[in-house]
Amino acid sequence: MTSILLVAERDGQGEISQSTLQAVAAAKSLSDSQVTVAIEGDAVKSGASLAVEKIVTLSPTDSGDAGIYDKATYDITSLISLINPDLVLFNKSDFGSVVGARLAFRSDYAFAADCIEISSTVTGLSVTRPVYGGSALAEFEIASTPAIVTLRAGAYETGTDTGSPIIEAFNSDGSVVGQGATTTDTVAEARDGVRLEDANFVVSGGRGLGGPEPFSLLNELADILGGAVGASRAACDAGWIDHSYQVGLTGKSVNPDVYIAVGISGASQHMSGCSSSRAIVAINKDGDSNIFKEARFGVVGDWEKVLPSFLATVRDLKA
Ligand SMILES: Cc1cc2nc3c(=O)[nH]c(=O)nc-3n(C[C@H](O)[C@H](O)[C@H](O)COP(=O)(O)OP(=O)(O)OC[C@H]3O[C@@H](n4cnc5c(N)ncnc54)[C@H](O)[C@@H]3O)c2cc1C
Repeated sequence: MTSILLVAERDGQGEISQSTLQAVAAAKSLSDSQVTVAIEGDAVKSGASLAVEKIVTLSPTDSGDAGIYDKATYDITSLISLINPDLVLFNKSDFGSVVGARLAFRSDYAFAADCIEISSTVTGLSVTRPVYGGSALAEFEIASTPAIVTLRAGAYETGTDTGSPIIEAFNSDGSVVGQGATTTDTVAEARDGVRLEDANFVVSGGRGLGGPEPFSLLNELADILGGAVGASRAACDAGWIDHSYQVGLTGKSVNPDVYIAVGISGASQHMSGCSSSRAIVAINKDGDSNIFKEARFGVVGDWEKVLPSFLATVRDLKA
């Protein structure tokens, strides 16, 4: 039996996020898995029919917790000692990356970040993750338990199975360990439409756009496709778009069906966040640019000439 503790996250409406539902599918794909989902706050509507064995609700973080995810780190540490799981599964989000790494460091657990596949082996678990900016996939055997794994959004399809989990409340004693940092302010990311990490279409812009204005065209294209806008770090560093849109090693990992890169050179640090897209489409005026090595479709040309007609064609096709 593989005992799994899955740490759930909520979407903007407070329901279980798509990335968490994908993580449930990943957990259930392991042989003979018993899945406990931990979620902060009340059990949610979408949780009642989740195809897992148990849901444990954690008391919400109150304003007294001034640390960064300290309470969650503490609660999940306590849950691990109680449940003794083989695998603790997080989404590869800010929350999962921080709390997962802290748990692994503090308790000396194995930690595998940004994985796209998990499977059971005779000796334990095996995970696959992109390496070298996504140019290769590496498989790691994890022999010790519990293993802490963060899973990239979109790596698994959202499962359609339903279940009737037992729902229990977990009350930790409330003490918070090791406050090393303090949150001074929390700002919700203002975003309409689909989240970048969950989008099936991503339209990303880079330094080649030459300024912030062209992002309105990218927004228009993303809207028509029902997708989201992303950006390279160069575009974010230039202040043309907020860093929350950054795709790459130090930004978000995306996994869409189609990733459209406009004026992006395809540096390995950028590609590590988007190389698992099903198809990459590049618009770049330099035919020798690295992005064309990664792209399935490409147009060598100035985006100012290519993008408006591309947009008009997509608009016509969608009409
Ligand atoms: C530790 C570290 C972490 C990093 N993390 C990230 C990360 O998370 N994400 C990330 O993106 N980068 C990251 N970087 C930076 C990365 O190395 C590149 O510098 C960055 O991705 C380049 O962005 P760009 O492709 O937009 O710009 P450039 O490399 O300058 O490319 C611009 C492209 O636009 C094309 N172009 C110019 N004008 C036009 C036009 N009119 N029409 C069409 N094409 C045009 C050019 O031919 C060129 O290919 C990181 C770097 C380091 C060292």
